[in-house]
Amino acid sequence: MPVIHACTHCGQKNRIPGKYLASTGRCGACKSPLPPIAEPIAADEALAADMAGKAVVLKVDTEKYPQLAARFNVRGIPNFVVFSGGRVVMQQPGVVNHAQMEQWLKSAAPVSV
Ligand SMILES: [Zn+2]
Repeated sequence: MPVIHACTHCGQKNRIPGKYLASTGRCGACKSPLPPIAEPIAADEALAADMAGKAVVLKVDTEKYPQLAARFNVRGIPNFVVFSGGRVVMQQPGVVNHAQMEQWLKSAAPVSV
């Protein structure tokens, strides 16, 4: 699953294939080194893209919405909650890898694809 990574030198948007996300690449326009993608949001975006049409991946800013954090008993971040049919089917605090999240979403899906 490619992720778009903007070059910090020239601003060119480069498509990074999933298997190279952890490697240093080279900008297609100016040939400057592209450091590995470090932001956790990249993984969320990749998962969101993989789950397009099957699940919706949401990210909540718990500092902006503390009442939501309280409602789901979130004491630290990250904290993952999987909903199906409007109810919580799975919740886990801590860092979780892409494959695990994908498995949760697939197992929570009411209809298999
Ligand atoms: Zn560049």
